[in-house]
Amino acid sequence: MRCSSDWSGVSFLLERSVQRVAGMTFTMRWRATAAALTVSAAVLSAQTPITPPKNGYTPAEDVQLGREAAAEVERQVPLLSDKQVLSTMAGIGRRLVNAIPSELRHSEFKYSVQVVNDADINAFALPGGPMYVNRGMIEAAGREGEAAGVMAHELAHVALRHGTAQATEATKYQLGGLAGAIIGSVVGGKVGSAISQGTNIGLGTVFLKYSRAYEKQADLLGAQIMARAGYDPRDLAEMFQTIEEQGGLGGPEWLSDHPNPGNRYEYISAEASQLRVKNPVRDTRAFEATQERLKGMPRAPKTQTR
Ligand SMILES: [Zn+2]
Repeated sequence: MRCSSDWSGVSFLLERSVQRVAGMTFTMRWRATAAALTVSAAVLSAQTPITPPKNGYTPAEDVQLGREAAAEVERQVPLLSDKQVLSTMAGIGRRLVNAIPSELRHSEFKYSVQVVNDADINAFALPGGPMYVNRGMIEAAGREGEAAGVMAHELAHVALRHGTAQATEATKYQLGGLAGAIIGSVVGGKVGSAISQGTNIGLGTVFLKYSRAYEKQADLLGAQIMARAGYDPRDLAEMFQTIEEQGGLGGPEWLSDHPNPGNRYEYISAEASQLRVKNPVRDTRAFEATQERLKGMPRAPKTQTR
């Protein structure tokens, strides 16, 4: 668990805050989130059931792999240390984490949010909980719900343990022993490639993206988590359009790492129509202030390689 003393990042656990620096700011939201947890199952009964894929790893192994990959990531990427930005994104992250369905919670997992000072529209999350959101993603979001949508999608991959599930599948094809390659693959892009190679397990640039089936699961569970957290899941569908529009030539990295399973906008919208948003988040001023603050900072570098 990273500590808050130098505000190098923000970490939090299910059920309790460990972030003291921002404690004052979060008190009200924390209570609001607790209220959101009282959403009855009946209200959400129309949601699509999501079953985690087969997994040969333990949740503790997810945590261990994620921790090793996080150490590598943090050697590779520039992290922002701005308190206001981090506390805002941690607040959104905590709200979403508290909305993960109870059957998909793992007590070992330690969720955290870091902001990467990179202009690319991207975000990724590692097994066991560490999440990295690019500054470019926050700036591109049309509103808080869109950023929350991407984060909810990433959290869904973590909660469903897709990274190690994919590793489990890959071992069937004799790729064996491949934590680094798999983690590199689920992070994707240049950082993922560096992790794959940096872990030196002999697979070099083996590069597996999340399967389309996993993408669809993350979209649907992400939509469900959003509704439980007070966000309109339609914002997730909107964010995909925002990403496509703003991605520029070649498209943003996020979409190449999270391929469209097909009809993404339509099935997320259909799921959204089955979900009721409880205790909707109305005060998004902190997020808007964060976007303004980022715009006022020196331009984020855009990483050169893919
Ligand atoms: Zn994905």
